[in-house]
Amino acid sequence: MSKRALVAGAGGFIGHHLVEYLLSRGYWVRGVDLKAPEFEPSAAHEFEILDLRRWDNCLQATRGVDEVYHLAADMGGIGYITYHRGDSAKNNVLVSTHMLEASRINRIDRFFFSSSACVYPQAKQETADVTALKEEDVYPYDPDEGYGWEKLFTEKLCQYYTEDYNLETRVARFHNVYGPLGTYDGGREKAPAAVMRKVAMAPDFGEVELWGDGLQTRSFMYITDCVEGIYRLAQSNHRQPLNLGTDRLVTINQMLDIVSQIAGKTITKVHNMSGPQGVRGRNSDNTQLRQVLDWEPRVSFEEGLAITYQWIEGELRNTGVPISSESVRGGQ
Ligand code: NAD
Repeated sequence: MSKRALVAGAGGFIGHHLVEYLLSRGYWVRGVDLKAPEFEPSAAHEFEILDLRRWDNCLQATRGVDEVYHLAADMGGIGYITYHRGDSAKNNVLVSTHMLEASRINRIDRFFFSSSACVYPQAKQETADVTALKEEDVYPYDPDEGYGWEKLFTEKLCQYYTEDYNLETRVARFHNVYGPLGTYDGGREKAPAAVMRKVAMAPDFGEVELWGDGLQTRSFMYITDCVEGIYRLAQSNHRQPLNLGTDRLVTINQMLDIVSQIAGKTITKVHNMSGPQGVRGRNSDNTQLRQVLDWEPRVSFEEGLAITYQWIEGELRNTGVPISSESVRGGQ
């Protein structure tokens, strides 16, 4: 008999890819979300549109499954989480709390929670050449406002549910995931998708705006590595939160240069110093990840960006957004 899994947030970027991954491993999969996936239909055996802020919907979503992968969240890139702190904290506390309790009542074997590098204290991320963050660096607590506080609270809730109710919980702290089928416009897109969209739409020798001076740093993980890491962690015996990301630090300026090269365009950067930037630098220390999973993300940033750029450029072309002829030539 195949195992049965629920993917909460299956209409979103990572959840949609996770459904495909679990199907490829022979799982029976139910997907649940507020909305269907944006760019292609879900391949899940069942897909239910449910608002998981509601307790009765969480009970319905978690019925008759062995494993729960909880990726549903009100979130977006730095612009969205900076200007919607109340919304994301309130909505996500409701979803996560109800999902955990419903999983307990429905006697789920494994509960996976997608946390974030946003739980780490801001004081340890004030320089661009930041020391990579180890899991224990989360103390003393000072996560990102709003979104980060909910992630931290739900990490603790997972710990309490394991200690008090024997619910096996697994927690990954994702560091900037990107890839095809992710949101690339509308205000919730993250930096890689936004940069790729802007480069795709710019003419050769055009200008692209970046928020801040572009010297802020992050590490980025391609989507196929993300879903493999989720699965490996969910199946492991590791009960504490674990970083899931790459440990290659790049500046936002460097990211734009790589994307311009992929597109075959010469782009001038225009720095908008009033745009939100988040912490100055953030990187993942993967020492524990390697020990626990005997594995780490392997897709290079260049390789992942090239695949994602092709997809975003194709989407823009299909939706009739004017793309310069130079860009079409350069991207092929
Ligand atoms: P996403 O926005 O594409 O997917 C999240 C999904 O959750 C959306 O489809 C949304 O409709 C759904 N959702 C929100 N509120 C809901 C509700 N009340 N009921 C049902 N569904 C609801 O985001 P993603 O990039 O796929 O992220 C997945 C998870 O990973 C999230 O928990 C996010 O916080 C976490 N994460 C992502 C990144 C990243 O770089 N993408 C980084 C750190 C953490």
